[in-house]
Amino acid sequence: MPPERTPTEPMAAYRLPPDAVITALGSDPRRGLSDNEARARLERDGPNQLTPTRPVPGWRKLLAQFSDVLVILLLVAAGISLALWLFERDSELPYEAIAILTIVLLNAAMGFIQQARAEQAVAALQRMSAAQARVIRNGQQMAIAASEVVAGDIILLEEGDTVPADGRLLQSVALQTSEAALTGESLPESKDPETITGEVAVGDRQNMVFSGTAVTYGRGKAIVTATGMQTQTGRIAGMLEEAPPETTPLQQELSRVGRLLGLLVMVIAAVMITTIILVEHVRGLPALFDVLILGVALAVAAVPEGLPAVVTAVLALGVQRMARRNAIVRHLAAVETLGSASVIASDKTGTLTRNEMTVRAVVTASGRVTLGGTGYEPVGEVTAHRAGTTGADTAALDDDLRLEVERALTVGDRATNAVLQEDDGRWTIQGDPTEGALIVAARKAGLADELLDARFARVGEVPFSSERKLMSTLHTDAQQQESIQVFTKGAPDVLLGRCTRERIGKATRPLTTERRKEILALNDGLAREALRTLGVAARVLPADGFGPDDIGEHVEQDLVFVGLIGMIDPPREEATAAVAEARAAGIRPVMITGDHPVTAAVIGQELGIVRDGRAVTGAEIDKMPDHLLEQTVRDVSIYARVNPDHKLRIVKALQKDRAIVAMTGDGVNDAPALRTADIGIAMGITGTDVSREAADIVLADDNFASIVAAVEEGRAIFANIRKFLRYLLSSNIGEVMTMFFGVLLADIIGLTAAGGSGFALPLLATQILWINMVTDGAPALALGLDPASPAAMTHPPRPRQEGVITRQMWAGIAFVGTVTAAGTLLVLDACLPGGLIEGTGTLAYAQTMTFTTLVLFSLFTVFNSRSDELSAFCGLFSNLWLWGAVMLSLLLQVAVVYLPFLQKAFSTVSLELADWLACFAVASSVLWLRELSKLISRWRHAPQGQSAPSHV
Ligand code: ATP
Repeated sequence: MPPERTPTEPMAAYRLPPDAVITALGSDPRRGLSDNEARARLERDGPNQLTPTRPVPGWRKLLAQFSDVLVILLLVAAGISLALWLFERDSELPYEAIAILTIVLLNAAMGFIQQARAEQAVAALQRMSAAQARVIRNGQQMAIAASEVVAGDIILLEEGDTVPADGRLLQSVALQTSEAALTGESLPESKDPETITGEVAVGDRQNMVFSGTAVTYGRGKAIVTATGMQTQTGRIAGMLEEAPPETTPLQQELSRVGRLLGLLVMVIAAVMITTIILVEHVRGLPALFDVLILGVALAVAAVPEGLPAVVTAVLALGVQRMARRNAIVRHLAAVETLGSASVIASDKTGTLTRNEMTVRAVVTASGRVTLGGTGYEPVGEVTAHRAGTTGADTAALDDDLRLEVERALTVGDRATNAVLQEDDGRWTIQGDPTEGALIVAARKAGLADELLDARFARVGEVPFSSERKLMSTLHTDAQQQESIQVFTKGAPDVLLGRCTRERIGKATRPLTTERRKEILALNDGLAREALRTLGVAARVLPADGFGPDDIGEHVEQDLVFVGLIGMIDPPREEATAAVAEARAAGIRPVMITGDHPVTAAVIGQELGIVRDGRAVTGAEIDKMPDHLLEQTVRDVSIYARVNPDHKLRIVKALQKDRAIVAMTGDGVNDAPALRTADIGIAMGITGTDVSREAADIVLADDNFASIVAAVEEGRAIFANIRKFLRYLLSSNIGEVMTMFFGVLLADIIGLTAAGGSGFALPLLATQILWINMVTDGAPALALGLDPASPAAMTHPPRPRQEGVITRQMWAGIAFVGTVTAAGTLLVLDACLPGGLIEGTGTLAYAQTMTFTTLVLFSLFTVFNSRSDELSAFCGLFSNLWLWGAVMLSLLLQVAVVYLPFLQKAFSTVSLELADWLACFAVASSVLWLRELSKLISRWRHAPQGQSAPSHV
């Protein structure tokens, strides 16, 4: 075994020839490392990751739970209560102080757990969207997690990849990388394995590739020299602070609402305290402290301080649900925007179609052959249709047609980078399916791989890009030593522009204008059969004096046109249903493809995207000024032969027209369009790393249907956030109103008289804190887990400018709050002597009844809060978590009423069955009255028909 270097040892790999680097790292350029060796190195050097500078320790996160002003006030209140107890010793234990402290601790624990869960969920998502790397190990090409790359690994790079680690280049085919992130240089750098003599700066090490930089063009092969924090990026990352956690617009809006509510409640608490002090008989310091503690308790109870954590938890949990439906969210904000999406602009190939290509037809100057067979198995019948004859001719191809078809398929086969593989009788493709189909077609026509390999050795490549829509390879020819063969394939309309002659049999003839038109018409004919078309052409250059500098786009001219190849790419079965579902949800599906306009229109019609088959091409867009494009995008849903620049213009035009655009992309140049779109969606399988990094969402299965599923989940998550907001706000407002009016109307409801020589309150501070803990915790979180309503995809998207809490919601919240306060105060009045309703109970009994009624009101409100429109009885049992949470809260309430220790801590007395029934009856009024108000609202909406209710 040659001596090894660990990546911690700085090695000027750029100054060593490739062989020396390979030897030093104990690797093999063809076989790569063995699995065992790679594992050992991973163990030795650690994962290929950038470690955050300073992870926040758990104890600091726990302590942060106590940093809230209100919690600090509560702790002070508990301290005062303890001091008073020490002074007075009026009970055997300081019950009140213990109760407040326990509640503070429980709240902190709940907050801590919720935050930890949210963080775990976010971390799990990051792992799911983790980068991959292509390496050669054990002589096989494979994709592994980028974090598992080790020094000595042989990595393969192509356009759109993010370089997974630092490496010394071994091979380059016009490789270019963008190193802006590392060196600040915005222009792409050309890369070349040539050894550099002398010391140069990082930016000038052209034979090195660096972790985190992007391959913008070409292909390459490199040996990894450094991983993780040892890479150039790692060294910089070590100096950088961690980015602050992202907050979404919704979270920002909610913290605004929270702050506003907090302020409001503080004012109410202050007014209430002043009223009590002025109106009631507050005597002595202890009584004064009691009132102050009550004020603090009320503020704590009414301010939904747990809201940000619950929102994050619900967003994160929803995001996990989306992941199960193959949409991996990279930015939480996208979840909110998804619910507002009004246009889904999708690629065709692989997203709306299956990306399982099979060549069906080859058309050349002398006729057409059709190919049978399915999948990638290279077996299928070849049938000839000679020009000028009708019907199939199954005789052997032995004339010009045979020569032309063989030439066409030879060009198609050689000008590819895909690999056809057989594993246990299963044929698969590594690489681009379009290219895979060409290889399979060549095998079907009897062109053996070994013979072609023996004859044509590749000496160069001009890579494919979606802008050029062409790709060429250059080969030596064993049968014509003196020549270099150029094989070019690409979009026929583009390719024809580069051709001057056409192949016919063994000879060539000039391409007349007439003949060009004929070929384009033949191409349209293939496209109308929903075939994806490709043209093939070739050219011979003299081998004499040919060098690497002669390889470039300039060889793609003066070509000899050989033929057209048509392949099917069937639409995905689920895409038709998804298109219909999107339409029903008021979302317009739009197809944006690099393919031929006729193929695109035919597929678009099959999928239900368009009826008329109208398609606008990239060339037409080029001629349109922005204002015209803005009008065009309103009703055109198919764009063909576009390149990434057009995509960007289309997104911008749609956004000008106030659309919220979700757009897919896979190529390296799609990144700007993905960033500009409201929701950028990248492909998990066929997409490039660059596009994935620019996107908000990555589709694990590249499937259009998953986008629609993500929209549905996005709507459900938003609806759930509204549900628990409705719940938290209406029950908290109910509590505040009960206290406020209880104090204000103390005389009328008989509370003043019940106070005797002291002062009386509707509820005690500890009881308020209890209600806050019991009702705000589990039921609110369970509402966040509600399944998507079946109606979620039947109404138009939510306007983005619409706030999370609408006017209709505020009205519902105020209604429920008022009913809660009125009902609770009625119970209080009925339990006490005097007031509007005569009662006979003690103050402790009346407070226990009030306390219980308020809790029950809250529990009924849970069911009300699931919709502003639909009855609470719709899907009553669809969320069992909710029932579990309600039952738990009920059980806790029973405990606080009957357990002696809790009775002392919360000043409660045991209730009779009849008492419970009375509390239930009164509390249930909120359900019935809300049902009635929803019924009236539905009835008022129904006749208009146009403004569909939001259902959430
Ligand atoms: P979509 O944008 O819907 O994914 P697409 O995959 O067809 O569509 P591109 O990959 O940009 O878009 O291809 C555009 C055209 O370029 C194709 O219609 C085809 O004619 C040609 N083409 C595609 N792949 C290759 C390739 N590997 N080599 C040469 N030409 C190709």
